[in-house]
Amino acid sequence: MRRRIVFGFMVPLGLALLTGLVVYRIIRTHNEDFNRVTTTSRTSGQLNKLIRTVVDAETGQRGFAITGDEAFLEPYYASATEFGVTLSELRRSLPDDASSETLSEIDTLFERWHREAAEVVIGSREKAPVDLDGALRGASTAFTRARAAELRYGLTGDAALLSRWGALISEAQRQLGRAQSLGLSGAQLVDVRAAAAQVESYRRARSGLGRQSVPDAAQGLDDTLFQLAADAEVAEAKVTAIIKVGTGRRLIDAIRVRVDELSSRVNATLERTLAASDADARRTQWVAFVGPLFAAMVSLLTIVQAQRQLNRSLRKLAVVAKGIAAGQLERRLNLAQDDELRPLAEDFNRMADRLSERERQNAQLEQFGSTLQTCVTTAEAYGVAERFGPQLFGALSGTLYLINPSRNLLETASSWGQGHHAAAETPVVHAPSDCWALRRNRRLRVDGKAGIVCPHAPTPAPAKSLCVPLGSQDETLGLLYLFSHDASATLTDATERFAVTVAEQLSLALSNLRLRESLKQQSIRDPLTGLFNRRHLEETLALELHRAARRDEPLSLMMFDVDHFKTYNDRFGHDAGDAVLRLISGLVQRHIRAGDVACRYGGEEFVLLQTGMSAGDAFRRAEALRGAVAELSPEHHGTALGTLTISLGVATYPEHAQTGEDLLKRADEALYRAKRGGRNLTVVAAEVQSA
Ligand code: GH3
Ligand code: MG
Ligand code: MG
Repeated sequence: MRRRIVFGFMVPLGLALLTGLVVYRIIRTHNEDFNRVTTTSRTSGQLNKLIRTVVDAETGQRGFAITGDEAFLEPYYASATEFGVTLSELRRSLPDDASSETLSEIDTLFERWHREAAEVVIGSREKAPVDLDGALRGASTAFTRARAAELRYGLTGDAALLSRWGALISEAQRQLGRAQSLGLSGAQLVDVRAAAAQVESYRRARSGLGRQSVPDAAQGLDDTLFQLAADAEVAEAKVTAIIKVGTGRRLIDAIRVRVDELSSRVNATLERTLAASDADARRTQWVAFVGPLFAAMVSLLTIVQAQRQLNRSLRKLAVVAKGIAAGQLERRLNLAQDDELRPLAEDFNRMADRLSERERQNAQLEQFGSTLQTCVTTAEAYGVAERFGPQLFGALSGTLYLINPSRNLLETASSWGQGHHAAAETPVVHAPSDCWALRRNRRLRVDGKAGIVCPHAPTPAPAKSLCVPLGSQDETLGLLYLFSHDASATLTDATERFAVTVAEQLSLALSNLRLRESLKQQSIRDPLTGLFNRRHLEETLALELHRAARRDEPLSLMMFDVDHFKTYNDRFGHDAGDAVLRLISGLVQRHIRAGDVACRYGGEEFVLLQTGMSAGDAFRRAEALRGAVAELSPEHHGTALGTLTISLGVATYPEHAQTGEDLLKRADEALYRAKRGGRNLTVVAAEVQSA
């Protein structure tokens, strides 16, 4: 679920970032488009300016050509600089090869226009001022008419003709003055001035003369004036011709065509850029809308999913918890690997594990306790410990040590796990002081190799161990030792507490059994000799007879009595008598087999119960015992007590008797016979009978 939440957070975040990135990129492109549009617009403006400059120059030139007014040349001259500046700006704006080439062509064309059209026209116009031809023609015509009036005056003397002459001469002079005022220069001006001066001198000369005389000053003047007018006309015609040829117009048109070409190229770029920008804007709109929407949807979906899974997990938890509360301790919570509540479930399961483990331990402890209580002997209790050890302590091995009655040895009573093997292979006996826990009478846990290692620990030293002293009241009984060579084995505080409980149960059971055993010993043993007493014999006899009958085996009973025992008492005292009894008891205990039961039957009478023994064997053994007693040299406090003999009677089941009572009776009879037979004798019941 965490992964899902992370996913639900990361994906929208990623989407938001992506959207931001895309929008940023698009806006950047958009800005670039905008800059391009701006640049393109500027370029378009520059192209317009260029063509305007060219048109201005052309218009100026034309205006000048038509009017001769120098004011028209102002834009013409300004255009030269402006054209250069605009062209270099355009070169920067349109650095591509095609545009550069076109710009170079425009430059060349404009330069050619200057050189081949404008300058020629301007130059021609400068040489042929507007109206010069008119003024000169006016002057020439007026002069020619004045001359005609003068000649007619000479013929007629008509005074009116003279005044007409005056007026015409004035007209000619006025026209010449006008021609001079049109901005002539150089030779032309000189010529016109000279002509004007000649006309003036003619006018003066003619004013002072009579009707018939013709002044020399007029000679060739009309030709001069005519020639001047003709020249002016030629020049004017030349200007008109140049303008008419249209070189300038063609060049200007060529420039216009190229500028238009550039313009349409720039406009195409502008349109493309605008279209791209428009597409960008639409994409931005789309991304900015869909990206966050999608992110929000993923977020929402994840939250809903997570919520549902959380609810599911919680429901499962509730069901299992309820089950466990109802005692179904085996129930566990199983959640998916990626479930957010999985750690909780794991803890919960661990808790349930511990609970059921505790339950199991308690059940075992209870079983262990009740089994211990049914034990009759300490040996049985040791067996129970050995059997329950592995169940109670799991992976932990164990050894139950007991302090011997002399309290100088720590002996292995039972063991399990590796403790069992260790005890079986090398049964080492330790001193109680070998255990630190026993020394301090406090439990001792060693976790890891760093702690104190008791000498009773196996080698190599276990990774974990626990010594719990066993004790009752003030007495220390022994030690419960738990250990493991596996460092991963669990030996926790809980284990320790559990071990203490087990130890307490063991201690209680063992001390009870010990008490019981000692009481029992006291009740079945004869305190003087340590042999069994008569009561025990009677109990055992019945038991052994049953067993013999079941196994179809013989059972021999041997009864013997010390000969003339009274004399020891009488001669050496009662203590000496007791000493003799103990001496004989010791001998008997050495002579009998493991399963035989030796009793002091009363006074100086003894009974030996020998299982699985025939009458013949019993007789031979009785004889051997008799011989051994006879060889004893009893003494008391350094005083020799003289010879010692016994008389024996032997009876065997099933030959001589079927019941215990009978068997005793028959043996007693045989003994009586032996006494009667002179003592220091063995008599078998059968012999008595057969005799
Ligand atoms: P016999 O050869 O016929 O058996 O002669 P005896 O003297 O052994 O037989 P008797 O029955 O006359 O004597 C038994 C004596 O043993 C009598 C009693 O004072 C003595 N006696 C019995 N119990 C003890 C005991 O526990 N200690 C001592 N010192 N003497 C005991
Ligand atoms: Mg006797
Ligand atoms: Mg006796």
